[in-house]
Amino acid sequence: MKKTVQGVKMSNKLSRRDALKLIGLSPVAASVLLSSSATTQLEASEDVEGKIVIVGGGSGAIMALSRLQRAIKNPDITIIAPNEVHIYQPAQVFVASGEMEIEDIFLDNNDYIDTDKVNWIKDEVSKFNPDNNSVTLRSGEKIGYDYLIVATGIQSNYEEIKGLKKEDIGTNGISSVYLNDLEYGTAQGATITWDWFNDLKTAAKTKKPKVLYTQPSSPIKCGGAPQKMLYLSADYLKEAGLSAEYTFATGLKSLFHLPKIDQELHKTQKRYDKIENRFQHHLQSIDVKNKKATFIHAYEEEVYDEDFEIYEKVSRADEVVIDYDFIHITPPMSPVDSLKDSNLLDNMGWLEVDQYSLQHKRYKNIFGIGDVCGIPMGKTGGSARHHGPVLVENLISVMKNENLKAKFDGYTVCPLKTQYGKIIMAEFNYKGPAPTFPLDFEKPRWIWWAFDLYMLKPMYKYLMLTGRF
Ligand SMILES: Cc1cc2nc3c(=O)[nH]c(=O)nc-3n(C[C@H](O)[C@H](O)[C@H](O)COP(=O)(O)OP(=O)(O)OC[C@H]3O[C@@H](n4cnc5c(N)ncnc54)[C@H](O)[C@@H]3O)c2cc1C
Repeated sequence: MKKTVQGVKMSNKLSRRDALKLIGLSPVAASVLLSSSATTQLEASEDVEGKIVIVGGGSGAIMALSRLQRAIKNPDITIIAPNEVHIYQPAQVFVASGEMEIEDIFLDNNDYIDTDKVNWIKDEVSKFNPDNNSVTLRSGEKIGYDYLIVATGIQSNYEEIKGLKKEDIGTNGISSVYLNDLEYGTAQGATITWDWFNDLKTAAKTKKPKVLYTQPSSPIKCGGAPQKMLYLSADYLKEAGLSAEYTFATGLKSLFHLPKIDQELHKTQKRYDKIENRFQHHLQSIDVKNKKATFIHAYEEEVYDEDFEIYEKVSRADEVVIDYDFIHITPPMSPVDSLKDSNLLDNMGWLEVDQYSLQHKRYKNIFGIGDVCGIPMGKTGGSARHHGPVLVENLISVMKNENLKAKFDGYTVCPLKTQYGKIIMAEFNYKGPAPTFPLDFEKPRWIWWAFDLYMLKPMYKYLMLTGRF
């Protein structure tokens, strides 16, 4: 679009070489389609009865809706979703790095919700009443159901960081690619972060700015996004012959839980001038005016006990203050507030579904899809797509009073952008790495960049959201 990086033209006009590479990608996409259609396609042949209510209007909800309509003859479906605008959230990262325009990431839920066939209530659920099979809307109205699908996604809790107000994001060197409002269909964090990239570049022309990136220890949607922002902004400066002092402060213990990818990311970091990693650092507060971030560094230390003459592990929690000129914040996240008061969450605070069947463990007529699910693996659109067929098959089994057969294998995907033009396509499931293609999965590749930038959105729009893939 705007520049040439690593010999790859980032332009709306494809070079001949890039076009050829993309043509090379087409069989890849075709094989994805073929490999999935065999296992996920259901004929609209199921003759089952019962009122299904879907709560949510994002990736998981629309995928569930489309798949149910493809599977059940004349289904009785109500969807409760306040938003007509549907944000293709993975592309917030591309907008934030100047590779897409903000207009490119908005879709229209009217294209997927046919109100001649589906009852669409444009409101929010304020209360879940699973003991009497109903939900209460913000308007006060109660809606009953026979079967419920919870697809309310995840909520960003910026206010848990003391000293930070949402309005501060975009001022005083603060950005956050995650900032969006799904109800009103805005993704201001994406454009704010692209401005932030450019402010950073301007600042780096006169001195090396201190740039801090944070990640909480709570589960977040797209766990790789904090590092995507680190590497893309560092690469943006590198391409201009500039640099900064980078600090990546994460609540986690490593860059990635899969050792091969973790090693590759450490290698990636060497591309950039100097990145200091601070692990197990939990952001507590920020002093917006004075540009100081305070973390709790929680760790265990081996201490020698002279009485018993043994080493023992002692938990420590130190306060650490880091000065910065620019900060990219990834907020702590949780399910939406209306779920917090319900009886539907597990002891970790997420929707208590079985990790294989996606059925609620205590309320057998309730299923989950997408980020809200309390399952061990990633919160991504890629997971939601794999939840879809499992959920539909198992829900139909419940409606037919049959045993549940479909199993979710934990699949998730994280396209880790290590620089402009390169992605590590980290695909894994409950058992470990699960690459779709027989390539070394930990290697950063141009082909994945092109796939993510040019092909995934059309696949999402035309195939995933319509339940074809
Ligand atoms: C910056 C960023 C980068 C990402 N990158 C990737 C990526 O590269 N690859 C990938 O696969 N995924 C990525 N994701 C994650 C992906 O977008 C989510 O995992 C996916 O959208 C989850 O779908 P969902 O349906 O669970 O939630 P969402 O799509 O977020 O939808 C939740 C819906 O629920 C609605 N809702 C909330 N509360 C209520 C209520 N009480 N009543 C009714 N409706 C309600 C909201 O309005 C919204 O429509 C990224 C996300 C972000 C933010």
